[in-house]
Amino acid sequence: MPKTIFQKIIDREIPAKIVHEDEHCIAFHDVQPEAPVHVLVVPKKLIARVGEATTQDEATLGHLLLTAGNIARELNLDAGFRLVINNGPHGGESVPHLHVHLLGGRQLTWPSG
Ligand code: AMP
Repeated sequence: MPKTIFQKIIDREIPAKIVHEDEHCIAFHDVQPEAPVHVLVVPKKLIARVGEATTQDEATLGHLLLTAGNIARELNLDAGFRLVINNGPHGGESVPHLHVHLLGGRQLTWPSG
């Protein structure tokens, strides 16, 4: 299976503005930001989407959320932020490598489109 674009970022084959990296995940700025802060938090393990995660991925999934919260604090998103995971075609997923969108820096509306 060809590498996803996020795997290429993890492997340093293409550049990204990385804001965090640890043993289990990497986080970098989205190239097409939908808000003043738009960071993607991506597990190093290739899980295609949350709907295909298993109980073996429980710690990884928890780590992604905790990391997103820590990055939000580091980026001073004190007024609030939103975490989004798109899953499959109806969810608007475009990269088949699980990622959490961290959005903030402006008033976000709800419901999303
Ligand atoms: P999704 O539509 O939920 O699968 O989100 C994929 C996100 O990845 C989109 O917001 C894209 O703008 C973003 N994206 C695609 N390629 C790159 C890249 N090379 N570096 C950073 N973000 C990217």
